[in-house]
Amino acid sequence: MREHLAVLRGLGADAVPVRRAEELDTVAGVVLPGGESSVIDKLSRMFGVADPLRRRIADGMPVYGTCAGLIMLADTVLDAIDGQQSLGGLDVSVRRNAFGNQNDSFETDLDIPQLGEAPVHAVFIRAPVVESVGERATVLASLPDGRVVAVEQGGLLGTSFHPEVTGEHRFHERFLDRVRTAS
Ligand code: GLN
Repeated sequence: MREHLAVLRGLGADAVPVRRAEELDTVAGVVLPGGESSVIDKLSRMFGVADPLRRRIADGMPVYGTCAGLIMLADTVLDAIDGQQSLGGLDVSVRRNAFGNQNDSFETDLDIPQLGEAPVHAVFIRAPVVESVGERATVLASLPDGRVVAVEQGGLLGTSFHPEVTGEHRFHERFLDRVRTAS
């Protein structure tokens, strides 16, 4: 979360941490960070932010999810723990921990024409993949083997990887553009 706040502030946004429903009312967009999606799910329900977040997403608030954040945005989560829920919004199925133990962390460069010519240096940490992309969502990036690792749908953006740790700011810029257009 700290890295996302730093990137957003560096891009001129008035970024604040959101932990409670009242704080959610004060923001025009949300970044859902990495971490452990089953824990994020539990805590967000316990603190009463899950339902307000679902309502804001349904109302069109821009959201950018990285890694566990992408899992939270997915309509369907595969290999979830028992009872794990997502917020949903993105018309995709996402599989948790899709790279197995051997490959659980790796880095690679991705071509993402929508973000410009320079490749995106992507860091994957126990990352999910997008296993199926519904009609409403668009693929932004895939690995050379075809597995989808970045998607968007209107104001919703999700990446399996962590651009916030490598000085890659283009996803956050894209998210902030959506926030400015939506608000
Ligand atoms: N494996 C984690 C999960 O299932 C995601 C890891 C991450 O966010 N870096 O939630």
